[in-house]
Amino acid sequence: MLFDLKPKKRKIDLFDRKEELEGVMEAFKKFPIILITGLRRVGKSSLIRVSIAESKYSSISLDGRLLFMNSGGNIRKMHLVNQIEKELANFSKSEKLRKSLKTLKGISINGNSVSLDWKEIDILSLLERIENFAEKNRSYVILFFDEAQYFKHYGSRGGKDLLALFSYVYDNFERIRIVLTGSEVGLLHDFLSADDYNSPLYGRVLKEVQLQPFSKELSILFLKRGFEELKIKVDFDLEKAVDILGGLPGYLVQFGIRYSEKRNFDAAMDETLKTITGMIKGELEELSGKSRRYVKALKYIASGADTWSKIKNIFAINGDIISDSRLFEILTNLEKMCWVKKEKGEKVIYTVVDPMVRHVVLSKY
Ligand code: ADP
Ligand code: MG
Repeated sequence: MLFDLKPKKRKIDLFDRKEELEGVMEAFKKFPIILITGLRRVGKSSLIRVSIAESKYSSISLDGRLLFMNSGGNIRKMHLVNQIEKELANFSKSEKLRKSLKTLKGISINGNSVSLDWKEIDILSLLERIENFAEKNRSYVILFFDEAQYFKHYGSRGGKDLLALFSYVYDNFERIRIVLTGSEVGLLHDFLSADDYNSPLYGRVLKEVQLQPFSKELSILFLKRGFEELKIKVDFDLEKAVDILGGLPGYLVQFGIRYSEKRNFDAAMDETLKTITGMIKGELEELSGKSRRYVKALKYIASGADTWSKIKNIFAINGDIISDSRLFEILTNLEKMCWVKKEKGEKVIYTVVDPMVRHVVLSKY
């Protein structure tokens, strides 16, 4: 079903993205490390989940944001191993896998279930066995790190232990593929820093697939298909909804669900905007935890201060004399986190990327 809030898992529920899906499935065979980047709610998790399901490879999924939240901001080996254990249950029915893992220290196997002792187990040795299993199966195993920029909070060295693991996999394994998604594209690249001599990943080629929001035509078609699927006749122009919501499938799905419930455009749009506002407010709070100036800058940019000097001025008018270096840092980071886009013409112009975020910062902050 198209109008479903969860990331899609089945190809029939994935609208469009044919090329991207083929691209990712090809990339599984060719590239040890694959990045999927794009805005929040553009459909990264959906694309990967469907790619994994379609290719029928086994996978281990680790959600960076969830691990970050559940670990109180410091992801440790224990959290990682616990999640790996849960994920192994998806393919521990395989006799071959259990055989490959059996003699590994820190693992106990009971019938179909595999349990891991996080203190005892060595993750690299575990991956070695998994590589071995995949090779016997003539298949691949996908290690899927969703919202991977959060893994810079792994361990005590800014995630470097994990990067070292990635580079070991890259150099030595043929059958394990690492897939990383990131909404905060610049932060993800900073974390991996494959072009930094000091990074464990230095010099490795990372295949990147960038996901774009749907075009206006595709967004309209998405809504049309979604309503057709539910056999709902709509009494408004679909273009009107897309003009408000833009092309992020996550927003279109929200609206589709609300309209299906209410069967009234205004009421449905009202509810949709409320829900989206709630989602974005949560994310802005997280951002504000890093620095309150981030949200202020977003608000100023949304309200029309679109150049460096205008932004600096409006900070000053509001009683905050901000240094050039600090403003540079704030704008650069907002860009890296994909809240803000910088366009270089005669002047450098800053805009808020997501029209819904613009709407929220203007109304609520
Ligand atoms: P991301 O991981 O980029 O934040 P998700 O994959 O979680 O995005 O998708 C956000 C929402 O949009 C979910 O409700 C998902 O079901 C829906 N969605 C995303 N892409 C598609 C698509 N191509 N077809 C149908 N629904 C989609
Ligand atoms: Mg996601």
